[in-house]
Amino acid sequence: MKTINLDTLTPKCECGGTMEKVTTTFENFKVRGWRCPLCGEELIDPRDAEPILELNKLKSRGFKVIVGKVGNSLVIRIPSLITRALHLRKGEKAKLIPKPSGLGVEFIE
Ligand SMILES: [Zn+2]
Repeated sequence: MKTINLDTLTPKCECGGTMEKVTTTFENFKVRGWRCPLCGEELIDPRDAEPILELNKLKSRGFKVIVGKVGNSLVIRIPSLITRALHLRKGEKAKLIPKPSGLGVEFIE
């Protein structure tokens, strides 16, 4: 079985151009991909597309999580599907936005 290293892949476009690595968007999420410099055709990295597609299937019913406790603080774990779709890592900075209906979280670049 042949495996493809997506990190070093330079796909050929149907127009004959050689695609270049880019950061682009898919369903409004930031993703890795390739773009043809000749015609602008884009390919989305399947490693980034897959969690977004899964997330889109599940997000209408939301994610149920349990509030935990660490020291004096309450903690909410973020499901891995969300961390993969948002490229979140330990140490990421976030802004908590209290709302009458709950809590919003924005991740800061
Ligand atoms: Zn092309």
